[in-house]
Amino acid sequence: MRERFNHLFLDIFEKNGLDAYVNTETVEKFWNLTQLMLETNAVMNITAITDMEKIIPLHYADCVKIADMIPKNASIADIGCGGGFPILPLAIVRPDLKLLGIDSTEKKARYVEETGKKLGLNLKTVSGRAEELAKHSDIRQSFDVVVSRAVARLNILNELCMPFVKIGGCFIAMKGAAGMQEFEEAKAGIYKLGGELEKDDEYDLYTNEQVEKRSVFIIRQINSIPATYPRAFGSIKKKPL
Ligand code: SAH
Repeated sequence: MRERFNHLFLDIFEKNGLDAYVNTETVEKFWNLTQLMLETNAVMNITAITDMEKIIPLHYADCVKIADMIPKNASIADIGCGGGFPILPLAIVRPDLKLLGIDSTEKKARYVEETGKKLGLNLKTVSGRAEELAKHSDIRQSFDVVVSRAVARLNILNELCMPFVKIGGCFIAMKGAAGMQEFEEAKAGIYKLGGELEKDDEYDLYTNEQVEKRSVFIIRQINSIPATYPRAFGSIKKKPL
């Protein structure tokens, strides 16, 4: 089992140009993470993906793809970290980062923090809704980088995530094949929230037998976020910016 994991891991990380992140220590941590995640998944809904063949590309490689975009020693918030993605893979491959996971489901936030501890990672989590936590002056506009995967459409997500980014920092939105279309809808809102698109990238994520489309948007926070944002979730959803 373990040997098969190592083999698959190397193969998928190489195919995705992530060889630089493969070493004995990281593979060991990803193996331990897989065990912990699958054990917990029996009693808590962490992931719908339970085969090693899929976990490695769709959770691990997918998340590690953004590791190169993050500056050294950055402080990071992962909004809607759920069962730990991308926060756990990032913490494994980038021990220099200072990470905070935020999720509205308390038991998920607790699981991620406990898993981080067991794996010896540098991360913390907070349970709460992003749009409420972003009102607190101690964490509002305070992170170098904010990341988020699979939480909401971009026109909603920007309002949940950008308020945590410090001026000069950035929000990295991880999206799938429909990313460009979501970006078109979200453009005007990015400007209202004081940001500017710095880079968009579409790439292939190689799984075992196929290729999936991914996109990523790097939004730079240029100005201070207006005090009216984020609004209550009902308004964000009903009238996205
Ligand atoms: N990022 C993870 C989880 C995605 S599921 C992954 O890619 O696998 C979406 C998660 O976002 C859920 O765990 C949900 O509890 C959380 N979430 C949704 N809306 C939120 C909000 N407004 N504030 C904080 N967390 C939120």
